[in-house]
Amino acid sequence: MTEIAHAERAHALLSASGAHRWLHCTPSARLEETLPDTESEAAKKGTLAHEIAELKLQKVFSGLPTRKYNAELKKYKAHELYESIMDDHTDAYLDYIQSIVHTFPTPPFVAIERKVDLSDYVPESFGTSDCIIIGAGKLYVIDYKNGQGVPVPAEDNSQMKLYALGAFKAFSLLFPIQEVHVAIVQPKVWDQPSEWSISAADLLAWGESIKPIAAKAFAGEGEYVIGEHCGFCRARDTCRARVEQLLSVEDKAPLKPPLISWDEVGDVLRRADGIVSWYKSLKEKALAEVLKGGDVSGWKAVEGRGSREYADLDKAFKHLKEKGIEEAVLYERKPLTPPQLEKELTKKVYKELLEETGHVISKPGAPTLAPADDKRPAFSDKVKPEDAFGEPIGS
Ligand code: SF4
Repeated sequence: MTEIAHAERAHALLSASGAHRWLHCTPSARLEETLPDTESEAAKKGTLAHEIAELKLQKVFSGLPTRKYNAELKKYKAHELYESIMDDHTDAYLDYIQSIVHTFPTPPFVAIERKVDLSDYVPESFGTSDCIIIGAGKLYVIDYKNGQGVPVPAEDNSQMKLYALGAFKAFSLLFPIQEVHVAIVQPKVWDQPSEWSISAADLLAWGESIKPIAAKAFAGEGEYVIGEHCGFCRARDTCRARVEQLLSVEDKAPLKPPLISWDEVGDVLRRADGIVSWYKSLKEKALAEVLKGGDVSGWKAVEGRGSREYADLDKAFKHLKEKGIEEAVLYERKPLTPPQLEKELTKKVYKELLEETGHVISKPGAPTLAPADDKRPAFSDKVKPEDAFGEPIGS
């Protein structure tokens, strides 16, 4: 049994995808509403990958005719943002969904791209769940994520819990549901999907617990609370609460001469986390404002460093060759790196031809500083600090 709904990927004010943010910082949704929403190239690629993923599910679960499937897929593959790795990754998503479906003794109910109503818990809210599977008392809610920048774990994930609440509301009268399983397939980050489970009773209790917070967020009330959730907020560059926190290093850090201690270094690093990317982003915003005629006190736009380019590359190189310049001088031949080749060849071919034949070896990454609560284990090899990073503090 399969249901398909081509739901518009519109967004509610209190969207499920933004829940992690507005549950922590309740006034953020109304603040975001006042700011322009620009879609990044990564987001556009994500939309394309979702469309391909949906098409593949339709073929398998709703009998989309092969001819139509091939024609649609060809169209997507001709898209300027298409990357061959998308095929690979959406295959991994399809394989995972099939593996879940095969765990059921009889074919479960499958809904693809289902719009779910979240308004019992969050005012005027709705969302679109990539895939919902129900059978034998179990509800599965599965989401595909195309991004590679930020890993999104399924554990206690507010977006997934909201989708599950919406799916429960839509289908629990038809199908009894006791267990809820959520999974995020993010092939650019993890080889295996991230999974998490909760009982239906606990999920419903969580839904009740967020009602007052959602009401506050809908009204735009509450305190501005900064945190890692700010990274996805439209207001992140100019939000006063965030700017004041980022700049509080100078005011509050106990910088007592002559040298700061390692405890103080830890404190300064924690307080200043994100300051470099924020400054760069804020500068870009200010430049855009000045260029459109606005006034940013104390700043102006100037001409940046110029560059040289060929008036006509083909003509220029033809001319050089006629003048006796060797082709080897004109072109640089560089081998693709393993990640670039994996993207070109697809994961499967790359693995067969290079990994399984021992032509690619994995090397551990260089040590990088991370907060103490980072999920990765601490780097074990001790390096003398002066070898890696110069003179230690206080030496
Ligand atoms: S940047 Fe952070 S603190 Fe400011 S509104 Fe957005 S989520 Fe809230």
